[in-house]
Amino acid sequence: MSRLKGPAMSRRTFLSTTAGASLIALHPFSAHASAGQAHLRIMETTDLHVHVWPYDYYGDRAVDTVGLARTAAHIADIRAEASNSMLLDNGDLIQGNPMGDYIAYERGMKPGDMHPIIEAMNVVGFDAATIGNHEFNYGLEFLMNSTAGSNFPFVLANVATAQGAGPRDDTTLFQPYVILDRMVVDGSGNEHALKVGIIGFTPPQIMNWDRKHLEGNVEVRDIVATAEAFVPQMKEAGADIIIALSHSGIGPEEGEMLENASVPLAAVEGIDAIMTGHHHLVFPGPRYETTSAVDPEKGTLHGKPAVMGGFWGSHLGVIDLLLENEGGAWRVVSHESATRPISKRNEDRSITALVESQPEVLEATKDDHAETLAYVRRAVGKTAAPLHSYFALVADDPSVQIVSIAQKWYIEEMMKGTEHEGLPILSAAAPFKAGGRGGPEYYTDVPAGDVAIKNVADLYLYPNTVRAVRISGAEVKDWLERSAGMFNQVEPGTDGTALLNPAFPSYNFDVMDGVTYEIDLSQPSKYGPKGELENPDANRIKNLAYNGQPVTDDMEFVVATNNYRASGGGDFPGADGSTVIFEAPDTNRDVIVRYIVEQGTIQPSADANWTFAPLPDTSVVFETGPKAADYVDDLKSVDVTPAGDGADGFALFRLNL
Ligand code: MN
Ligand code: MG
Repeated sequence: MSRLKGPAMSRRTFLSTTAGASLIALHPFSAHASAGQAHLRIMETTDLHVHVWPYDYYGDRAVDTVGLARTAAHIADIRAEASNSMLLDNGDLIQGNPMGDYIAYERGMKPGDMHPIIEAMNVVGFDAATIGNHEFNYGLEFLMNSTAGSNFPFVLANVATAQGAGPRDDTTLFQPYVILDRMVVDGSGNEHALKVGIIGFTPPQIMNWDRKHLEGNVEVRDIVATAEAFVPQMKEAGADIIIALSHSGIGPEEGEMLENASVPLAAVEGIDAIMTGHHHLVFPGPRYETTSAVDPEKGTLHGKPAVMGGFWGSHLGVIDLLLENEGGAWRVVSHESATRPISKRNEDRSITALVESQPEVLEATKDDHAETLAYVRRAVGKTAAPLHSYFALVADDPSVQIVSIAQKWYIEEMMKGTEHEGLPILSAAAPFKAGGRGGPEYYTDVPAGDVAIKNVADLYLYPNTVRAVRISGAEVKDWLERSAGMFNQVEPGTDGTALLNPAFPSYNFDVMDGVTYEIDLSQPSKYGPKGELENPDANRIKNLAYNGQPVTDDMEFVVATNNYRASGGGDFPGADGSTVIFEAPDTNRDVIVRYIVEQGTIQPSADANWTFAPLPDTSVVFETGPKAADYVDDLKSVDVTPAGDGADGFALFRLNL
């Protein structure tokens, strides 16, 4: 415990008397232990995704919102205030930021090597952890070499290298559970032995998400059925209380092979508390709906205490149990669930840190941090063409094309072996950084040549995850009609109309790759800037074709996109959430990094699959960043010429239609 004291501690104590104090006071554990009663505080980290340092490696800048080094400050506080505590991790440890990619793609994990997230966890001191779905992303050998470095046990009950007749006969990849012997101090200061059973689960969907690593090597079981088999065995083995490490979200109340199984898992008799995760949300908290089984205010599932500590170290989850010993058997008599954030967002959207990094965690991983910085700053691939978005709203564009290509590459793999295999796969992507309210410098601009990991953040601004939807040809057309609301209507034969509708954000200008089409600006937009149906009979999308054949209303397509769009963001036809057929665990950004690393040199040449329909003797003007002048001669598919200065530092260009 001495490692948790020192100069950093007093600094943090100072902080917690100001901003942090109210947060900690929000959830006092009000019950007081008497003789024969003991408090046990169970702390959870989840979905750390290699976030040890408070650093955004894509942005190459320090941030206050992430990092186990920060979460560890809350852990130190709790250890100082609670006589009985345990610290558990809920998985998704070794993948999910450039430090993880650096270890996997560059430095490697040989037997005996130490993974930085495991090193950091060893310093903080964990009692046990489970395995998240992302642990399988780099293959089984990488996973086993990484976890071998821990000085705490990993448990995982529903993944087996060989399945028997039932879960208890399986040869599991990790031990299914542990029973830890701990001493607890009761209300009168007497010590008692307590056997704490800890069992872990991961989503069975790993077999689909990481098929290339797992098929033929492991098999999976339903989370709830596995729990029902093992929990009685843990009781027989003497577990006084049982904690489930559920790397699985808070979802449906029932179902087979659920990805998010924490609700029915909580109903399994014998489980006393559930650590949840995978959703990257906070529980208790307002993002979950109240149901007969879920109390998002109290933090219970089927009346049992549950917690989800955000992601990337953003929060520490805390479950307080008041245990009572009756004739040698312990039972939970009351409980509270809470989370402690490491930062808070102020009204002006600025961020205030609520804790300081624990220096010993940073110290233990400082070489890994330095090597990761060098990695994100150096070339990992090459691009044959410059990747910029200066003309992304007037022509098919390489910076959007590369996102589409990587999404399609990924979804093609994920559709293999599913009922959707063989359907045409399209890919939708929009220019995120394209001026507008962001100003005249707010454009993607990666020159031809070397591509570094930190450039990928420039190509894909948001931490979205990949989705696939299955929609009709009619919906594909309406999706593009919705996008075409980007443009003002143009009277044929006129000059100088402003092309871009300033009320329409560029991130809603989805370009769909895999089909060819023209946008006829002489027609009014079918949809308004928020997706409202304004002109039901209008048709701006002309000559929509797939493989040279007209797209008919009843054709079927799979469209690769992101979670924002697929779940209704921007109110696009065919994308209201009901058409989703695949929810990827991977971010679009990670998929782009993987694509670049695997391809070496990328060829993001735009194929001009969309153009404006020709309007003779007609020109329009549009604003873009002044640096666009450097690239205007590269434009092949459109006739664009400089037209002087625009407003507020933008440059004006003329487009002959
Ligand atoms: Mn995760
Ligand atoms: Mg294209």
